[in-house]
Amino acid sequence: MKIFVTGGSGFIGSNFIQYQIKQNNKIFNFDKLTYASSDESLISLKNNANYIFIKGDITNRNHLEESVKYYKPNIIVNFAAETHVDRSIDKPTDFIQTNVFGTYNLLQVSLNYFNSISSKEKDEFKLIHISTDEVFGSLDEEDFFNEKTSYDPSSPYSASKASSDHFVRAWNKTYDLPTIITNCSNNYGPYQFPEKLIPLMIINALKKQKLPVYGSGSNVRDWLHVFDHCRAIDIVFKNGKIGSSYLIGGNCEKTNLDIVNMICDIFDKKFKSNKFKHKDLIMFVEDRPGHDYRYAIDCSKIKNDLKWQPTISIDQGLESTIDWYINNESWWKKIQETKYNLNRLGLKK
Ligand code: NAD
Repeated sequence: MKIFVTGGSGFIGSNFIQYQIKQNNKIFNFDKLTYASSDESLISLKNNANYIFIKGDITNRNHLEESVKYYKPNIIVNFAAETHVDRSIDKPTDFIQTNVFGTYNLLQVSLNYFNSISSKEKDEFKLIHISTDEVFGSLDEEDFFNEKTSYDPSSPYSASKASSDHFVRAWNKTYDLPTIITNCSNNYGPYQFPEKLIPLMIINALKKQKLPVYGSGSNVRDWLHVFDHCRAIDIVFKNGKIGSSYLIGGNCEKTNLDIVNMICDIFDKKFKSNKFKHKDLIMFVEDRPGHDYRYAIDCSKIKNDLKWQPTISIDQGLESTIDWYINNESWWKKIQETKYNLNRLGLKK
């Protein structure tokens, strides 16, 4: 299998590439290397003949087109995106550029490529578009998102992802481009950029710095270990139904405060002290503007149709993620020193 991955140097992409390389697939990673990427994440593949890196921007149509034509993939997986809600509040332009215009470019390039290949190659070809549960907006205490839920995005980030999903669906319906969309919940695990909740809390806890929790910490998210997400994408591109979408979740609803408390408990266990509890570091800060209250996913479709379900519990997943950040200090220290100093973003000021 030859897989053309966009945005493969980010968090989920780099985990996905490592997963696919283990299965002996050939990977072409087309990535702009924005602030959110890390050149260290895939360093172990530097001399691997099955891994090719192309520094490129999906908004550059000619470069993207040349690359796809040259490498002739069987599958394209689109991870490339601006992904941090707080940054989308401060600077929405980049989100519209990459997430909307870049996805449109990728659709046009994929369609031209699809129309140029043999019918046997056409039978195999698919474009998998990776999206988020945030496109559905906020839930109250009871409901769950499913594949029929109407789109109702709240932030510039989720609006740009919603827009890209609509374009992907339109290219399937109008031009018969074989596409599948996945909408997954909050991922966590190794190689996640430290602006996101879990790595930010882990790194601050390691440095015994304050743990800033937005609002009262009562916002609920569903948490999915990135390894389970990579398995789900693999199953979707092998057995998923063209033209459809799949919701992927961890069956693990937690408030933000629950997550921070769990991290603190694991730290207390690892670094025992009679005088100090990591929960003392928790500090409640101004809420995110337009902060969605709750996301929750009903993943019956992927469970029943494709026999996928999450395998990593939050206790197990958080513990291994904390160990990863403890053992890979140089990875996050380099980011902290050169790209992001863990300061607050997205306050509309
Ligand atoms: P990330 O921010 O860690 O990485 C994004 C990657 O895309 C980076 O390597 C970056 O350099 C690259 N990129 C950005 N703009 C580009 C452009 N114009 N051209 C080429 N490459 C570009 O993101 P992530 O957390 O790995 O998310 C990957 C995908 O999954 C995104 O589409 C995101 O919307 C979706 N998603 C993420 C989560 C999550 O919890 N992380 C949840 C649901 C959906």
